[in-house]
Amino acid sequence: MDKRADGRKADEMREIEAKVGVIKRADGSALFKIGDTIAIAAVYGPRELHPRYLQNPETGILRCNYDMASFSVTERKKPGPNRRGVEISLVTEKALLPAVDLSQFPNAVVDVFVEIVQANAGTRCAGITAASLALAHAGIPMKDMVAAVSAGKINGKIYVDLSKDEEDVEDATDIPVACTARTKKITLLQLDGNITKKELIEALILAKSSCEKINKIQEKALLEFYRQNE
Ligand code: UDP
Repeated sequence: MDKRADGRKADEMREIEAKVGVIKRADGSALFKIGDTIAIAAVYGPRELHPRYLQNPETGILRCNYDMASFSVTERKKPGPNRRGVEISLVTEKALLPAVDLSQFPNAVVDVFVEIVQANAGTRCAGITAASLALAHAGIPMKDMVAAVSAGKINGKIYVDLSKDEEDVEDATDIPVACTARTKKITLLQLDGNITKKELIEALILAKSSCEKINKIQEKALLEFYRQNE
């Protein structure tokens, strides 16, 4: 399978759009679209954490919530939290945590809400990318930016940014990866399927270089916002 069903090259991501400042009431917000997958992230805080026993007197806490809207997929998703949502919320938090510095905000929480309004694979990665943009837009102190994309294997070949149709190919392997822009660290690595060590290295190299491209788009979105609101 050399040519992808949608005509993309192996290292070509779907079309990307990024925008910050999309939700007025939030302290920071962003929209990230990759192909037909659309994630919106909203950040609230830092604000005092309640109940108080959850507070950490040494640092603020990052709390992430991922949700896929019922209408985001063709076969309606049952609304509300489920196991998948809990897992993705947790990995989103872990992927972003190394990039933020909440040490100035003891006893506080920064809430990140990720809503997937349209899903066609890669939603956790789109959510993490949108969340990093929304945190920066909120003015949360950050040591780095995080971008995420999945790489995958279909019929023995490595591709970036699998679509749902590609993910659904028999024996396809999906590897969501998040990377920091400055320190080039991997902050999320999951793997669903089988892969050899050599293939994994190839997939990680492809995911990392694609994350760098996404980071440029993130920078552009932030600059555009500040230029328009000078
Ligand atoms: N999906 C769906 N219904 C669900 C969960 C997922 O239709 O309840 C679809 C959706 O397009 C999603 C894709 O399956 O993007 C892949 O889901 P996965 O759990 O692998 O996470 P993702 O790739 O979105 O991070």
